[in-house]
Amino acid sequence: MSIVNKRFHITGIVQGVGFRPTVFNLARRFQLTGWVLNNAQGVEIEMHGEEETVQAFIHDLRQNPPPLAVIDSFTVEDAPCQVHTGFQIRHSEDDPSDFLPVSPDLAICPDCRRELFDPSDRRYRYPFINCTNCGPRFSIVTGIPYDRPNTSMAGFALCPDCAQEYQDPANRRFHAQPIACPVCGPQVWYEEGGKKLAEHEAALQAARKALVKGKILAVKGLGGFHLVCDALNPQTVENLRLRKRRSGKPLALMAFDLETIKEYAIVSPEEEKLLTSPMAPVVLLETLAAGKKLLRLVAPDQNRLGFMLPYTPLHLLLLEPAEGFPKVLVMTSGNLSEEPIAYSNAEAKRRLSTLADGFLLHDRPIHTRIDDSVVSVIAGITHIQRRARGYAPLPLQIPTSAVPTLACGTELKNTFCLVRDRYAFVSHHIGDLENQETLSAFEDAIRHYENIFRIKPEILAADIHPDYLASRYAHRRASEQNLPLVEVQHHHAHIISCMAENGLKPQDTVIGLAFDGTGYGTDGAIWGGELLLSNWESFERVYHLEYIPLPGGDAAVRKPARIALSLLLNAGIDPDSFPFPFHQALDPDERSAVANQVRTGFNSPKTSSLGRLFDGVAALIGLHQQISYEAQNAIALETIADPEEQSCYDFPIEDGQILVSPVIRAIVEDIKQNVTPAVLSARFHNGLTACAVKVCETVRSQTSLREVVLSGGVWQNKTLIRQTITALSASGFEVFWPHKLPTNDGGVSLGQALVALAVSGNLKD
Ligand code: ZN
Ligand code: ZN
Ligand code: FE
Repeated sequence: MSIVNKRFHITGIVQGVGFRPTVFNLARRFQLTGWVLNNAQGVEIEMHGEEETVQAFIHDLRQNPPPLAVIDSFTVEDAPCQVHTGFQIRHSEDDPSDFLPVSPDLAICPDCRRELFDPSDRRYRYPFINCTNCGPRFSIVTGIPYDRPNTSMAGFALCPDCAQEYQDPANRRFHAQPIACPVCGPQVWYEEGGKKLAEHEAALQAARKALVKGKILAVKGLGGFHLVCDALNPQTVENLRLRKRRSGKPLALMAFDLETIKEYAIVSPEEEKLLTSPMAPVVLLETLAAGKKLLRLVAPDQNRLGFMLPYTPLHLLLLEPAEGFPKVLVMTSGNLSEEPIAYSNAEAKRRLSTLADGFLLHDRPIHTRIDDSVVSVIAGITHIQRRARGYAPLPLQIPTSAVPTLACGTELKNTFCLVRDRYAFVSHHIGDLENQETLSAFEDAIRHYENIFRIKPEILAADIHPDYLASRYAHRRASEQNLPLVEVQHHHAHIISCMAENGLKPQDTVIGLAFDGTGYGTDGAIWGGELLLSNWESFERVYHLEYIPLPGGDAAVRKPARIALSLLLNAGIDPDSFPFPFHQALDPDERSAVANQVRTGFNSPKTSSLGRLFDGVAALIGLHQQISYEAQNAIALETIADPEEQSCYDFPIEDGQILVSPVIRAIVEDIKQNVTPAVLSARFHNGLTACAVKVCETVRSQTSLREVVLSGGVWQNKTLIRQTITALSASGFEVFWPHKLPTNDGGVSLGQALVALAVSGNLKD
């Protein structure tokens, strides 16, 4: 029998997730001696005992780490032999130059859920029950290290019972920083018209009664406020849309349990896993026949419903099934149209008082506002559409070491990205940087991330578009702090972001297909239908969609009827040769103005954007002539596509341009032949797939490159991405697409940071 002394180093998400108590309890079970501590690198363990037992311990810990731990590395080395008395949890060591990952906010765990509904538990029906395995994290962190005084729970002194649990390594709540109970923790209350009407359980019941009556409530949750109402009450939902000024935009839903969701939507095993995961995102699900009414009310134009499960005890209590209580609630972010989500009580009462009939409030402050994440499953793989609660601020590993860098992201769906060492911290979804409130949220969040992850940027990156608020912030900061600023083309950043998250190396050159909405091009045009041969440092634009005039710029984005007319004129088709649906949306004055803009180019930027082509084609075949949110027409066009239709429109290629006009002429012929919109849409989708394969094959024949990277907002189109991946793979390409980060502009900041590092010669290895 040989006695050994071993030292383990474990890195990753290993703090604040119950790692030390797990080690402690396991060591005691194996009767091993030694200690465990948190340090700047992660967790360190020293262990003394029989070699076989130590091996068994390692095996057990690796097989059953704490449920929320993410182990990046686990190394074991021999240490000088020492005799220990028992096994101890030692105090944390802190190295101010280093950083520790902060856990995202996590959905309530099964143990806490059981206790919540157990009448004999001291936290029975307590809306803030949590433990080491669940509850608020990132949203309540005010500073580092992650200890109670550095959270928004600092103001709640522990009662003796909670204090005892907090100090007991054998307890599930050992060092659970947000630990609370009805005696010492936060409380809920209900208000109407600024008056407190009820507290505690009565507050919950008052809120539930109001929901039954068809009222709209503002409910303070984990990362901010939701606007909540009965999703199956047409009048209430309509009312909510009017008040929120969100005419057609889809609304997220919450149901008490999986079984209820399955009454309305198809839930695959992967989707079920996501819904019930600690991240508990909104999952976009195909609708069943029974869900059609819901679909019409909350997500017109779509064929998918966005569902999530209650992820906090408060939500579970609010949604508890009962006779006459709504089975499905709308849970949409508490804000007015494009402003950021409200998160403090005072702010919510100020901003949401015209939107909500009542307020369900609590006194646990939210330090960082964070929206619900939105995901979907494509070809069995999770695809993140909005990365926020549950995912952020987990860093991504990048395939190289880097000097500290801040990339400021884009205008729409903004995220920023901070890089240090081999980690990229892509922020949670900030929103559209189009107003002062969102800009402040952006600046606050940058400050907070730099502080908690100890990052002092030495390089800045921004989009080449001069007028984006994010770019202006970068320019201002570059001059104030005398830092180098690298401006990065939007679609280059899209492609590099996807390359990096797929582990492709900086020097690799890939065929990048950036199919996107809007990005400023190096020639001043609006790009978005691009084939870019790219590595991290540079790109070559090999193919792009034919330039189309965008008459009136933003006016055309909001009113695709204008794009439809522009497409016809550009293709040499007489708009009066047929009663096209868009005629009704354009009065004679506007029509002649558009024709004039197209002819002269005045106030009519050129665009190769595939997103705009979707908008225009959809308008041409009779879908929306006017839209109320980005991508509405593209979604509508995808939704109607006939999955049986096999034929396609041919996009000819000429001098590096993918010609659009021949396709428009073919569509017009089909319209005149009374081909249905469903078939037209399918032919358009099929044509794009065939075109993608054709350009990639041409590039391969000239360069022998065979790695294709897909990125850009258009790839949110499930039909298009699925059939294009299949077709490219069948042709022998290796295809990569985003799944850890959004394929839309939410993923661009990572690409910006990496391009800036490569361009400035600052990649280490
Ligand atoms: Zn728990
Ligand atoms: Zn307590
Ligand atoms: Fe984009």
